[in-house]
This record gives sequence, structure tokens and C-alpha cells, in this order.
Amino acid sequence: MDRVLGIDIGGTSIKVGLFSTEGTLDAVTKIPTGEIVSEAAFAVVTNGLKALLRENGGEPDDVIAIGLDVPGPVDDDGEVGMLANIELDPDGLKAAILREFPRANLAFVNDANAAALGELWQGTAKGSKSFVLIAIGTGVGGGVVANGKLISGAFGAGGEIGHITVNRDETESCGCGRKGCLEQYASAKGIVNGYKAACEELGVTPVQLDGPTDTLSIFNAHRAGDKAAKVAIDKMCDYLGYAMAQISAVVDPQVYLIGGGVGGGFKLYSEDLRTAYRKYCLAPSASTRILPASLGNDAAMYGCAFQALSEH
Ligand SMILES: [Zn+2]
Repeated sequence: MDRVLGIDIGGTSIKVGLFSTEGTLDAVTKIPTGEIVSEAAFAVVTNGLKALLRENGGEPDDVIAIGLDVPGPVDDDGEVGMLANIELDPDGLKAAILREFPRANLAFVNDANAAALGELWQGTAKGSKSFVLIAIGTGVGGGVVANGKLISGAFGAGGEIGHITVNRDETESCGCGRKGCLEQYASAKGIVNGYKAACEELGVTPVQLDGPTDTLSIFNAHRAGDKAAKVAIDKMCDYLGYAMAQISAVVDPQVYLIGGGVGGGFKLYSEDLRTAYRKYCLAPSASTRILPASLGNDAAMYGCAFQALSEH
């Protein structure tokens, strides 16, 4: 039986999904890795993959496609660019995997792009021809699908929605070195910063926050009627809706999907976001739907598997 593997590469471990070619997730495992830059580390990965297959009645020759999602740019040819937050030798890992899985087609996919493909394969976007996934977590990532195809770009920067400039007057720098990026206002960190600023302005004491990305406490405060939380979330919706209106002027998608950790609070701010988007968008794009993504943290694992399978 032909099988597909989707590998979500994180900083300290990888999460692997074993899929059928139809997209059923049959099993998931987590393999602790650390830095993936040596033959010994590559062997930890390949042994883990083989163990997963064995436990599920398969063998390496069953695997026809293996997708790997990485937190960094990947261009249209599948070449991995600079990885800022992770120690990984993509060429070395690729060679090691292909030695053990000779039938497999292997593909690298940017993590946000992979999440978009996952939603296209088995999530909310199933059957959509064009949509944009906006993944809101520590940062803001994106994946753009047009005519059923992912737009990763000539230089791998396609879908870098978090770095659309939404405020030319900003004086603070974004992680990318520029100023006024969407990520500075609409990421988990951005929302927390916005909340603290609003508390100061309104002269109120902030609720207890569990770290610099704790949007859950802010959403809960908003539900309980906290005025500063409302200001922060309104601001996030305003900037995000503004950025989406610019995206619509370029790709005019059928649907926007909101995912990532902050996507979990979607119900709370969905109407405000729709209102902000309609305020700024061109009239023909006003009926674009804005929906929550549905695969959660597994989306990227689905999507990289799908990409590798599509190229097979
Ligand atoms: Zn930026």
C-alpha cells in the first residue's frame, strides 16, 4: 500500500504524520531531535520514520512521498533559504532520507505555505480554487493559493503577509528590520504590546499575563468587558483588515482563512475583522468570506505531505 509522510520540523523535535494517498491521517509520532546537522542526527530522524512505518504495518518501500515543512523561505523550485530560528542542514537530511526511502519524492515547504496546502487538501479550504491563509501566532505567516496552486514566489517570499507595511509612521523595528509591518500589531506579541499600551493610555492595571504572547488572557479579559483589551483587539482587526484589503487588490481570493494560535479566538473578533476588511477593500472583493482554519497545529504536516504527493 502506498503511503505518504508529512514532517513538521520544530526547534527541538519533529512531528511526523503517516498518511494514505487519499489524505487520511493514520498515525502521528513525535521524534526528539535537537539540531539536525550531522549524520547521527539524520539517522535519528530516519530511524524514527522507519519505526513509525513498522508499527503501522508498513515498510520504507511503501512510501512514495515525504514532505518537510521548515520555518523559513522555500522558493518555487523547493530550495530552502536562510533558516533563522532552527539548526537544520536541508541537503544533508534530504540525502539521508532518500537513501532509506528510495521510492519517495521529497519536498520542502515553508511552514505557513504548508499550512495553507493542508487546509486545501483536508481542511476548510477543500475544493477552493483561491484562498489566503493567515496564520497568526508568535508572528504572522501566510500562504497564498491561486488557481489551486501555492504561490511561494521567485525568491520564496510569496505569502509573507506579516511583513506587509501597514503603518509608515512606526518608529519601532519589526523582526525583519523594517518598520510598521502587520506582524507588529496583529501577531500574539503585537496584541499583547497593544494591550499594554492601551492600559497605560486608559490608566488601568493590566490583567495578569502569562508571558509576552499570552493573547488568551486578553481575549478572556475582552469577554469580561475589559476596555483596554477591546482597544487592543480592535486595533489588531483594523490593521489585519487593512492588510487583507491590499491582498485582495492583488490576488482577490474567494476565502480568507484565519489560523495559528490566535486563530483559536476567531469567534471573538470575527465580526470586527469582517467589518474592518469591508471598510478598506475594493467593492468587488467585499463578499470575500473570512473563516477559521480547521486543522490547527496539524495543518502544516498535512500540507507538506500533500505537496510531496502532488509532485510525485
Ligand atoms: Zn517585518
